Amino acid sequence: MLYQQLGNTPYRVSRLCFGSLTVGPLQANLPVKEGAAVLRYALEQGINFIDSAKIYETYPYIREALKGWSKEVIITSKSYDYEYEGMKKTVEEARQALNRDKIEIFMLHEQESALTLKGHWPAIEYLLEAKAKNIIGAVGVSTHYIACVKAAAEIPEIEVIHPMLNMAGRGIADGSIEEMAAAVKLAYEKGKGIYGMKAIGGGTLNAKAKEALKWAFSFPYAHAIAVGMQTKEEVANNICWLLGEESPYEKQVKKKNRHLLIEEYCEGCGNCVARCGQNALRLVNGKATVDPEKCVLCAYCSEVCPYFYIRIV
Ligand code: SF4
Ligand code: SF4
Repeated sequence: MLYQQLGNTPYRVSRLCFGSLTVGPLQANLPVKEGAAVLRYALEQGINFIDSAKIYETYPYIREALKGWSKEVIITSKSYDYEYEGMKKTVEEARQALNRDKIEIFMLHEQESALTLKGHWPAIEYLLEAKAKNIIGAVGVSTHYIACVKAAAEIPEIEVIHPMLNMAGRGIADGSIEEMAAAVKLAYEKGKGIYGMKAIGGGTLNAKAKEALKWAFSFPYAHAIAVGMQTKEEVANNICWLLGEESPYEKQVKKKNRHLLIEEYCEGCGNCVARCGQNALRLVNGKATVDPEKCVLCAYCSEVCPYFYIRIV
């Protein structure tokens, strides 16, 4: 495994970060023991960096995988809270669910700009207080926006940035991959810990996965790259690609591109349309319709459909 110091944080992280969204209820929905076994295998291969979020509902997998594990693990989580009390409750819930005194990195989820960061400042104030009490180790933001990366780069309290970063620029909400790369470089040079998001475009670049991961791992201004993995073979394969080695698992892990399925029974309530931060959904003739060019397969819309009519397949 390769490791790097995550910017100015005290954490030395594996360059391949285990994105836990994909094993959980919003995506593969693996039984907890099964998903935890994949994660445990990743730990055994040297991965020490795990990405999670309140809405992913993957804390049980992480907790199970860490049973009896004594080596250092850096866990990130994130939430949409914007108020002090809400964030406090969320961090406490995470500590309990993960059975840990300290969450290494806690972040604001899906921030857009200097304005949204300002609007969430009471939540950041709680995180700073939690850091002073050693309840968390560093404060961060996740974002699909270049504007947010630029804004966060200038805010000393924000130490970690988790930006949308893939060779095709999929999912970047306000510009090109070149512009995002320039913003990330700026943040990196200011000492921010950078770990990239959706290097394979959330699965939309699966057909070019090797090229996409090679691009991400060689991007010089990211300390780590988070990749969602669902099997031990995927973990082993991605480690080979990180190390620049041929992978014996390549054929096994080659998957067809995934897409968003909206059932014909859709009742047009609009919940999913309102939830999609990528502006990829709209109602047409009373039914939700997706623009595949904009969809990054994050599955956040699945969470709000009262009837389970929208999901990734
Ligand atoms: S349509 Fe759903 S899966 Fe696609 S980007 Fe929007 S919220 Fe994510
Ligand atoms: S949330 Fe479900 S029912 Fe409502 S518009 Fe979306 S897919 Fe249709």
